[in-house]
Amino acid sequence: MHGRENKDKFGVAREQMLRLDLKGRNITNPDVLKVMAEVPREEFVPESYLSQAYTDGPLPIGMGQTISQPYIVALMTQELRCNRNCEVLEIGTGSGYQTAVLGKLVKKVYTIERFPQLSESAQAVLGRLGVSNVEFYVGDGSCGWPESQLPPSGCFDRIMITAAVPEIPEPLVRQLADGGFLVVPVGYGGVQELVACEKKAGKLIEREICDVRFVKLLGEHGFEK
Ligand code: SAH
Repeated sequence: MHGRENKDKFGVAREQMLRLDLKGRNITNPDVLKVMAEVPREEFVPESYLSQAYTDGPLPIGMGQTISQPYIVALMTQELRCNRNCEVLEIGTGSGYQTAVLGKLVKKVYTIERFPQLSESAQAVLGRLGVSNVEFYVGDGSCGWPESQLPPSGCFDRIMITAAVPEIPEPLVRQLADGGFLVVPVGYGGVQELVACEKKAGKLIEREICDVRFVKLLGEHGFEK
């Protein structure tokens, strides 16, 4: 597969990913499956990895970071339990692939990335794809969205962290609405536990999903740089 003109080949590969890697495992939410069938992952991977755009694994995206494995993107999205009315905070824009998936499911996505280069490239791809309900911010996502620019409700209905944390950053717990959900890989080592949390009466109720491997969230409330 060479060049971005091979739309039909990518379509076939995307179909196969849906059938084998998502439906063939435990991805059952019809909205999640629909969006995973729509978002062209080939747009988010570097030219040199185009032929692997639909292999079920992470791929390098520059700056020592990776685009997540399609199954994990679908699983985290399913565990986030979004609906059309949700305002979602995403930490770790990376390639913007997960951002695009969320953007097609919810009212608005607020996404933070520490590398300007990655944020800019994600903004360009989402612009090309017409995903326009996303606000981008470059900075330390472990501190949450800037307080002065929060949505009118003052918090987020859902939060997804797409990098590993030693502990769930306290500013993010604060910015999650009561009754809201947060999905995050937690752990110190190379393998972390994917955790889905619900905030009830100000406290997080945690549920462990499975082992995952993510790059680290580096920042004030994450890992030390
Ligand atoms: N969802 C992305 C995954 C990106 S990997 C995708 O599918 O492409 C995790 C990302 O988190 C990396 O881009 C990394 O630069 C970013 N990151 C790490 N620490 C961060 C921090 N403190 N604030 C914001 N982004 C951070």
